[in-house]
Amino acid sequence: MEDLEIEKIKKAGNIAAQTLEYGKNLIVKDASLMQVLDKIEEKIDELGGKPAFPAQISCNHLAAHFCPDEDDIIFSDQLACLDVGVHVDGYIGDTAVTVDLSGKNKNLVKASKEALDNAISVVKPGVTLTEIGKAIQDSIQKYGFAPVRNLSGHGLGKFEQHTKPSIPNFDSGSDEKIEKGMVFAIEPFASTGAGIVQDSGIATVFMMGNKRPVRNMITRQVLREIETYNNLPFTTRWLTNKFGAKAKYALREMEQLGMIHSYPPLADRDKGLVSQAEHTILIDNDGKVIVTTKM
Ligand code: MN
Ligand code: MN
Repeated sequence: MEDLEIEKIKKAGNIAAQTLEYGKNLIVKDASLMQVLDKIEEKIDELGGKPAFPAQISCNHLAAHFCPDEDDIIFSDQLACLDVGVHVDGYIGDTAVTVDLSGKNKNLVKASKEALDNAISVVKPGVTLTEIGKAIQDSIQKYGFAPVRNLSGHGLGKFEQHTKPSIPNFDSGSDEKIEKGMVFAIEPFASTGAGIVQDSGIATVFMMGNKRPVRNMITRQVLREIETYNNLPFTTRWLTNKFGAKAKYALREMEQLGMIHSYPPLADRDKGLVSQAEHTILIDNDGKVIVTTKM
């Protein structure tokens, strides 16, 4: 990996970490979830980055992909997973934290946080993915919770939010190894329920798929905007802020034409509460482990 790439990954990680801290402190009783998302994305911009994906705050039994464009939530006693992604010239930092507004879920928050810390402490070149997964599983089960098995950490590429390898949240048996030069996110989720998530509700998070010619004027405008996201995920709210409600017609048309992938909110199958913690890790050319999201 070149020094310039490493610098950009570190910069993206740094901005992501600062933004996560900022956003976490905005999640308080009576605040509007959508306003918090707007402020987080303004902060990313102010610090010199761009969102690698739409900021998301998934509450209670939702684990990921909650990013509303109209049905706002006012915070009261939610368990809120805040997930922030930043890119600098395509190099990505991805990090998440859970805020427990009720104060009743301290152990659940601790479980995913400790799982992340313990996973990072076993990371080095040559460690297998199953060893990382086992560290996560053991940490979460110690508290009596379930690791979410069908969500995983992931490699990060230039303008690629999810690439190989997939980092399991359980002892998966994978003998694939961590190598020098790898960049990846580790993201344990702990659940009081099934530890399996499934699609729940209408998608507002999308990613460009197969481009096709479109005739409708508004769809063409929206498509041009989407192209500026460089194949990274985007959300309905960004487009309705810019084009108004008609952006939704454009999205629907593109969905029907199979042009975009949609990512609906993901909920625990048994409606268990879910906590999340995440950091981006870089293994440099000397094999040194750098957690880009810690300053
Ligand atoms: Mn994330
Ligand atoms: Mn991630």
